[in-house]
Amino acid sequence: MTSSTSFLHDDAPVPAGFRSLSLPEHHATTVVFSDTRSLLDADEFSEEGYYYALGHTPTTLRLAAKVAAIDGGAHAVLTPSGMAAIALTYLATVRAGDHVLLPKNVYRPNRDFARAMLTELGVTVLEYEPHETDLGARLSERLRLLWIEAPGSLTLETPDVQRLIDQGRSVGALVAVDNTWSAGVYFQPLALGADFSIQALSKYQGGCSDVFMGAVVTHGDDHHARLKRASVRLGYAVSPDDCFLVYRSLGSLWARLAAHEAAALRIARALAAHPNVGAVLHPALPSCGGHDNWQRLFTGSSGVFSFTLDGRYAFDDVCAVIDSLRCFKIGFSWGGSTSLATPYRAPAWWATRERCAGLIRLSIGLERVDDLQNDLIGALERLP
Ligand SMILES: *Cc1c(COP(=O)(O)O)cnc(C)c1O
Repeated sequence: MTSSTSFLHDDAPVPAGFRSLSLPEHHATTVVFSDTRSLLDADEFSEEGYYYALGHTPTTLRLAAKVAAIDGGAHAVLTPSGMAAIALTYLATVRAGDHVLLPKNVYRPNRDFARAMLTELGVTVLEYEPHETDLGARLSERLRLLWIEAPGSLTLETPDVQRLIDQGRSVGALVAVDNTWSAGVYFQPLALGADFSIQALSKYQGGCSDVFMGAVVTHGDDHHARLKRASVRLGYAVSPDDCFLVYRSLGSLWARLAAHEAAALRIARALAAHPNVGAVLHPALPSCGGHDNWQRLFTGSSGVFSFTLDGRYAFDDVCAVIDSLRCFKIGFSWGGSTSLATPYRAPAWWATRERCAGLIRLSIGLERVDDLQNDLIGALERLP
């Protein structure tokens, strides 16, 4: 007869001779040791063995290896969200007294974390404009971490990444690149000498607008070990169910990106030809800041870009255009199958040059392209 004791003490067997194409899900908090000696000898941080499932499991290690390989790296630490990957990169590297240097078009919650939390911890937060190639006096011995985002959020300028990396390294700073826009498929910053490539896997890798995850991808064993220790100390855990979902979507990443790319390019060009549109901020179009950098560095473009209305329109008109769309949902994030349109007030540093009230950020999904294009053009035609 089965009792609770015999039930509980029956090890789940590892099936011999069974193979499938999906990611095996290992659910665990406790990792079981064969005896006290192996428990006492185990290394909490090493990925050679298993210690406590907060650190890693066969499931998380397998997904991390795939994510690292896509981005051209040797290792990845998975994190509970893309923002958690950004916070991990900071907390694993900077100390009181250090400087960090961010582009003005950096992902807004990244800047918010730096300004609100790092400043309180005694770190100095400095900024640069995305088109700047000479960081001048902001390069100093105290610069610990240089952030690059390629292209930047919202205004989508592609910076001269190689030049920025070289300058950061010349003063001994570490360089982190937020590479979420390209999903690691169209751009690999580690090959240019960056120390960290950050991915919000919630976007194209997850691909269905339903799972949060992030990753910090590295080449060097030392960088990975440092991130890994910080991640365990912070108590970051990643669910095997979420790993299953991301892994499941990864195989179609290249095909989805190609579809997003083709649709977004067609729509961006149609918008650029419309008289009610101001600027189309798509890295693959010459109207976008840093287009020449994008051309040199990237092998393709994804489905996220922004545009502005002609200078005679106000922010209310930006909102009216979005509210009258039928094929686009309204909300944050991007990279899923459903197209999204999001209103943003023009950032102050940018508006001083560009004379416009607001931007519309689009994430082009996998709907029929004609439907999306007609929807947008129809909304523009309805403007006064
Ligand atoms: C969305 C995003 C993140 C954060 O990802 P979450 O998983 O939503 O926390 C980081 N960087 C960029 C550029 C992003 O667009």
